[in-house]
Amino acid sequence: MRCPDCNKFVAFDDGNVDEVEVELDEDTGTVGISGRVVLPCAECGTELKELGVDDSIEAGDDFEPSVPDAVRAAVPESFRATATDEWVEKNAKVRYEWEGGDADKEFSERQQSTYVVRKGKDKGKTKPLKGPSRFRKTYKGVTVTGTVKRTITFTVPGSPGTEIDDTHDVEHTVEEQASGFDELT
Ligand SMILES: [Zn+2]
Repeated sequence: MRCPDCNKFVAFDDGNVDEVEVELDEDTGTVGISGRVVLPCAECGTELKELGVDDSIEAGDDFEPSVPDAVRAAVPESFRATATDEWVEKNAKVRYEWEGGDADKEFSERQQSTYVVRKGKDKGKTKPLKGPSRFRKTYKGVTVTGTVKRTITFTVPGSPGTEIDDTHDVEHTVEEQASGFDELT
């Protein structure tokens, strides 16, 4: 697009994701991704386009085993029948945090590499794109990666407290066609 400062048609530099916030809810394990990805002018750095980002990943729900199953596997066998989902809900405390530091966020960029067939006998199938790459759509955005740690603590009557730690890797990309970004100039 045309840069108002360079006064000519320019390419975009790598996107800037400094203003993307990644937050982990310590009670639910939900990862919120919000803010904006900015595409600067490759020549002078002026901000040309932005993508507003507002997404979330229910990382807490992706843990295997589930909280009740993890608790039941850890209690004494004689207590297993008592440890119903309701008992676990009432007696187990669950907390989520990042393992090994906060999540990473990185500018992401990829070219469309597949397409969905629109007619004929292969209608609806996904196939690899052939032909010159300049005709392919380009998607840009932000990729968030991190490891969420789940800590479950509970006490079975007559036993010392128990703590169960599990981790789950998260990788999530929020992206949009470069042409779908909002123009800032
Ligand atoms: Zn410029």
